[in-house]
Amino acid sequence: MPLDVNPPVVNDLSAFWMPFTANRQFKGAPRLLVAAEGMHYTGHDGRQILDGTAGLWCVNAGHGRTEIVEAIRAMAGQLDYAPAFQMGHPLVFDLANRLVRVMPEGIDHVFFTNSGSEAVETALKIAIAYHKARGEGGRTRLIGRERGYHGVNFGGISVGGIVNNRRFFGGLLSGVDHLPHTHLPEMNAFSRGQPEHGAHLADDLERLVALHGPETIAAVIVEPMAGSTGVLMPPKGYLERLREITAKHGILLIFDEVITAFGRLGSATAAEHFGITPDIITTAKGLNNAAVPMGATFVTGAIYDAFMNGPEHLIELFHGYTYSGHPLACAAGIATQEIYQREGLLIRARDLENTWADAVFALKGLPHVIDLRTMGLIAGIELEPRSDEPGKRAFEVFLKCYEKGVLIRVTGDIIALSPPLIIEPGQIDRLLTTVGEAIREVG
Ligand code: PMP
Repeated sequence: MPLDVNPPVVNDLSAFWMPFTANRQFKGAPRLLVAAEGMHYTGHDGRQILDGTAGLWCVNAGHGRTEIVEAIRAMAGQLDYAPAFQMGHPLVFDLANRLVRVMPEGIDHVFFTNSGSEAVETALKIAIAYHKARGEGGRTRLIGRERGYHGVNFGGISVGGIVNNRRFFGGLLSGVDHLPHTHLPEMNAFSRGQPEHGAHLADDLERLVALHGPETIAAVIVEPMAGSTGVLMPPKGYLERLREITAKHGILLIFDEVITAFGRLGSATAAEHFGITPDIITTAKGLNNAAVPMGATFVTGAIYDAFMNGPEHLIELFHGYTYSGHPLACAAGIATQEIYQREGLLIRARDLENTWADAVFALKGLPHVIDLRTMGLIAGIELEPRSDEPGKRAFEVFLKCYEKGVLIRVTGDIIALSPPLIIEPGQIDRLLTTVGEAIREVG
């Protein structure tokens, strides 16, 4: 059947309240995607758009993978849904086993959610309940970081460090502190990989421990590499320091790997990439190639056992979602993990890292480019904001790229690139050449 690229619904954009989108602007010049295959989307006008962002950092195996489509189709016909509580189905156990195999040693249990935001809430709740199960119920404080992004639910926006969340949504959770962010452009601008300076910023945790007492602190949550607030790399030694201090004080360390897990940095997790094992890892996006919404929270055996061996009323986790471990999401997950293994995609970013970084760093010297940051298959390209219109320059670059058939993502005046891991060197060249042209043209 020929693809209907212009269905009637395109003519009525009135009812849908779009997430994180200026609806009125969008409706003036809508960008609708109607199909996707491999490295490309098809726009509603029939144009091919090179996907420089893997959707929203999530379609790591590329679009329209037949194996995933077929797995979902087969499961939908066989078992559309199974109750998530007090019941199970084979695929959820199968997927869990496969996933813990690629996690760092010691991280061996997984709780399923439907999104990264829910994976974060789950992690925070597990952290607090874990201490309680061990008789340390006073440990309820949570520590996040400035410029942290941990999804959009109340726990996540409380530990996150984005000012608009405080502006719009009130007081948020109490008992939360923030470490300083690690973005030090004056010392680290134009670093390829991990920047040299900033390990000392982790020591701020000692200050918070001294202020509140370690017996009050449940967990520290950070993105090992912060994506959504501008692709901020951890300085050398920083994560090591954070691990040392949290371990010393019995505080759980949570890595929010919603972006970094499943191949973005050339390894299954950033934890593996940086050689640091946290106590909890949150994931989503690449888990099942974004084909069906799914997130997952991974924990160590020690955490799991504290519940299993705890008092009778704690042998279960009092938490769960109707769609936890949904059969269709699991089917997509298993098919995705098989693709990653078969095609070596979890480590492909390692092989492409230099080609990628060279292409990104070729933009150095372009007007208004004030920083470039790369690691694995991710990049942040920071533009000088126009003094009267912050964010406008990068948004214009986004529009210009789209016009030229390339999808990028911008956050403030930072361009974030994170293509599917199947990208070929020629496509890397096209992506970065187009971004460069757009930056020049926007001026
Ligand atoms: N944590 C991190 C680190 C993320 O990058 C994101 C999404 N960009 C989330 C949590 C939230 O995930 P979701 O949008 O699936 O709720």
